[in-house]
Amino acid sequence: MGETELAAFVFVVTGDSGLKRGRNHPVGPAAPTVTKQEAQEAMIIVLKPDHTEEDLQRIVRKLEDKGLGAHISKGEQRTIVGAIGDERVLRETPIESWPGVESVLPILKPYKLVSREFKPEDTIIRVNGREIGGRKIQLFAGPCAVESREVLEEIALSLQPLGVGFLRGGAFKPRTSPYSFQGWGEKGLKMLAAVREETGMLVVTELMDPRDTVLVCKYADIVQIGTRNMQNFRLLTEVGNIDKPVILKRGMSATIKEFLMSAEYIAAQGNEKIILCERGIRTFETETRNTLDLSAVPLLKQLTHLPVIVDPSHAVGRADLVPAMARAAIAAGADGLLVEVHVRPEEALSDGPQSLRPAAFASLLEECARIAQAMGRTL
Ligand code: PEP
Ligand code: MN
Repeated sequence: MGETELAAFVFVVTGDSGLKRGRNHPVGPAAPTVTKQEAQEAMIIVLKPDHTEEDLQRIVRKLEDKGLGAHISKGEQRTIVGAIGDERVLRETPIESWPGVESVLPILKPYKLVSREFKPEDTIIRVNGREIGGRKIQLFAGPCAVESREVLEEIALSLQPLGVGFLRGGAFKPRTSPYSFQGWGEKGLKMLAAVREETGMLVVTELMDPRDTVLVCKYADIVQIGTRNMQNFRLLTEVGNIDKPVILKRGMSATIKEFLMSAEYIAAQGNEKIILCERGIRTFETETRNTLDLSAVPLLKQLTHLPVIVDPSHAVGRADLVPAMARAAIAAGADGLLVEVHVRPEEALSDGPQSLRPAAFASLLEECARIAQAMGRTL
């Protein structure tokens, strides 16, 4: 393969709910194809304060006619259009001279679609009537793994009265040891769906392998990509082609830039419903499982328009430290908390030591509600 030729293996899955064709693969069969990819560039088109709606529509039409993507952001002061596409086409197009255009600036960051420059206003992700990234701080709680229908139900019934909107639980578990419990697979997904029926809580569960995408999408309301897979680019491309929100966990050794580039992989396929999750990074410290990088929260909020949530459970790895880190996460500006809760942590098949009992989780929420209020938000 020549240097300028990049292999793009295209996976387009059709005929199932939650799956659609992505921006880069609008047509074509499901079979892998090899295409030459053009270098992509992005520009911010700032419109004049007195531009007309007609100007705006014309700009979008002209961009689309040239095969460029157009993304409108109507702010309080200014309307901007983010344009993305073939570098050469963008450079050769005299956008500055179009009516209504004030200035055109290139986005210098390597991530484009997820950058705050491309879309200045916060992204709010709506899923079955619930909003992530809005004023309300969303709660994602549940066991590390789906263990049995009974235990899952017991946990969910303890969480639902506390106002937890999303039930988390892994049916496919990424375990360090091949001898540890690996999850129940589809049986576990069915348990999640049954408990969703019963409680109305929406389901968040991890996808580890592109081959399970159709299966996981059949049951999940939100698909989680775990820390170990943050740079599994084939998997990222795969979830870029689904029509469900994705919780992307930060790789345990990933920089903020790498984290955002992984989000860009998903967005580049057309799925912009991405929730970033800070879950602790590896440091020299061994008293805690990881080190919670709370500075990531305000930094990400600055660099991207995507919602940012915090998982204090995997960050510290011990239940006694989870409440303080949850409070701190909200003070730092997190849009949600992802917390492991188990009715009997001592019997949990995975991550028992970091799992809170429902009563401890309820007090955590009381404390967090006060901090949320101070931050002008609700829990
Ligand atoms: C989990 O959420 O249970 C999990 C495996 O998380 P992480 O990928 O952050 O380790
Ligand atoms: Mn876990």
